[in-house]
Formats: sequence, structure tokens, C-alpha cells
Amino acid sequence: MPDPVGVQIVDVTKSFGDTTVLAGITLDIAAGSVTAILGPSGCGKSTLLRILAGFEDPDAGTVRIAGSTVADRTGTVPAHRRRVGLMPQEGALFPHQDVAGNISFGLGRMAPAQRAAEVAHWLDVVGLQGFADARPHQLSGGQQQRVALARALAARPRVLLLDEPFASLDTGLRVRVREDITAILRKSGTTAILVTHDQAEALSLADQVAVLLDGRIAQYGAPVDLYRRPASLGVARFVGSTIEIDGQAEGGVVTSPVGTHPAAGAVPDGPVTVVIRPEQATCGPGAGDAANAVVIGHRFYGPQTVVRVRLVDGTAMELQEAGHSTTAVGESVRVQLHGKVLAFPQT
Ligand code: ADP
Ligand code: MG
Repeated sequence: MPDPVGVQIVDVTKSFGDTTVLAGITLDIAAGSVTAILGPSGCGKSTLLRILAGFEDPDAGTVRIAGSTVADRTGTVPAHRRRVGLMPQEGALFPHQDVAGNISFGLGRMAPAQRAAEVAHWLDVVGLQGFADARPHQLSGGQQQRVALARALAARPRVLLLDEPFASLDTGLRVRVREDITAILRKSGTTAILVTHDQAEALSLADQVAVLLDGRIAQYGAPVDLYRRPASLGVARFVGSTIEIDGQAEGGVVTSPVGTHPAAGAVPDGPVTVVIRPEQATCGPGAGDAANAVVIGHRFYGPQTVVRVRLVDGTAMELQEAGHSTTAVGESVRVQLHGKVLAFPQT
């Protein structure tokens, strides 16, 4: 049986003045899943979340949450009656209230003893036992985000929306905090929608990723499928690094200056842009006929070196080598591709 639908978005459009931000968004989000909406800055991610939360009305289209319609052409259900939580970019804790006060915010009316028990429960869920009396400024950025999450979850939303929740954290902290928070979301079984412009974040955290480009969902799928089988060159570029060279497709096989390789997915015969993921390409010694490139430069980054080569047809290409490169500038080398290659028709 398919998972019950947590959120259903059907043909939602939204313009501000003459600018169409959402040009028809259709998306089914399974209950209990963690879904990422990935798109560049300014593509309408926050607008879509605000429509789901009820802070903004769509121009057209339908939104259903856990089976009930909250927006369609007949009207909208106000935000406070949707049971949708929104966790903003900066945790936005109340600075003059302690952690318990912040978490209590979402609890509504209840007896003091029950309130204390609820606060203790959510502190336990987010791993901050003993912090009830702390003030936000006494906490690290990661701890503040966990309090914000506890506050959002305490209101028991049917759907929790997270708007770039890790963007304000330092790089070192970000990976830890986002893994902690996703683990908590999974454990709590909450339907969560996270928006981000960070492809690594979307791919590593979410069960499903919707790529939002030019006002539309360019592709919706599991992270590994988006990465290996992007539906367009735009998606391929947005979900990972690409090395792009010209090639020719014929009968599902692609020929380029680095050889002949099976295409990943169907591609019509004719000129194509061959898209290579950095981890697919290696460069090793090659003399005489085996050589297909010359090394023209190196950039050392510590764990890896970017090796710049010029292919026989004159195309420059950058490859990654683990650690320090064993090649020298001016050396003839052989570039090899592993696995199937992505290819998109050139128009
Ligand atoms: P993202 O969250 O993906 O960065 P937003 O949803 O915040 O993008 O914004 C998408 C576009 O809509 C931007 O060009 C932004 O300037 C515009 N926009 C957002 N909200 C409003 C508004 N209330 N009035 C006018 N323009 C808006
Ligand atoms: Mg935004």
C-alpha cells in the first residue's frame, strides 16, 4: 500500500506583480517522510512554505494537509487552524524566556505539572535534558536550533516546515546539527519539509528531493536517482558538480574525446553534452596511443588535487585525484571514465 499522503500540492501558482514565482507546482509528500525542496536563492522556496503554512495565499491551485483541503479556489483555512509548524532560518527563540518558556509556547492550555512533563519530554527528545532554565544566549547555535525544533514539535504539528534551518550555523557545526535534527524528525515520525539551496544538505538528509527551478518542479525523486539520472542538464548541474564535454550519441552509446561509453538513460542520436561526475573520471599514465590528454595544471586542496588536462580535441577538463597528484604538468596521460555517462541533446 502506498504511504498516506501528508501534503498534496496541486497546480499551485503565485505571482508578485508581474513576476511569476511559482508557475504550477504539483507535489505529493508522503506522511512521515523528510522531503527537501532544493532550489537556488530566490526561486520561491520560502513562498511555497508560506503558502503551505497559510501565511500567503496561492493565486490558484489546491493544498491538502493530511487529507483536508486548506487552500483551493473556494478559500483558505487560516494559519492557526492548519496545525502546520514553521521553523524559520534563525531559530527565532524568545530571547527573554528560558528554554522551558520557549518550548511551552506551542503547548496551549494545560495544568502546570503536565506542562512541565511535556517540556521535559521534548527536551529529552532533542537531547537537552537539564537545560530547561537556560536562556537562549547561553546556548550554542546548534543547541538553539534544537530548542527551536523542540518548540515546533511540542505543538504536535501535522507537518513541520523548515526554512533553511542550518544556513546560519558555522560549517563545522552544520553537518552535526543537521544530522541530529533529521534523526529527531525521523524518530518523531513527523512529516517534514525542508527547503534549502544546498544540494549536499538535500541529498544527504531527505528521503525525497524536489528540485525547484524556474517556478516548476524540475524533478522529484530519491537523492540517488536525482544524482545518477537527472532529467535535464539544469538538474544535473544543480544537484552536483559536472564536467561537461561535447560528444556524439548513437544507439544509446556516446563517443567523446575520452572514448566510447554507454549512456545512462535514453538519449536521441546526434550531438550531445556529455556530463561526467568528478568521481567517474580518473587520470593515469598513458604513453603513445594510450594517451588522450596532457596535464596543464594542478590545484592542491589537501584531501584532493584538481588536475587540469587538455584533451586531444583541445577541450580543457578538470579531474579530481585523491591526495597529491602523481602527474606532472606537460605529461601525457590517459583519462578514463567509469560507468555510464549522462548525455543531453544539444539543441
Ligand atoms: P527563496 O526562498 O527560494 O530564496 P522567495 O520565496 O523568498 O525565494 O522569493 C521568491 C521571489 O519572490 C523573489 O524574487 C522575491 O523577491 C519575491 N517575493 C517574495 N515574497 C514577496 C512579496 N511578499 N512581495 C513581492 N515579492 C516577493
Ligand atoms: Mg527563502
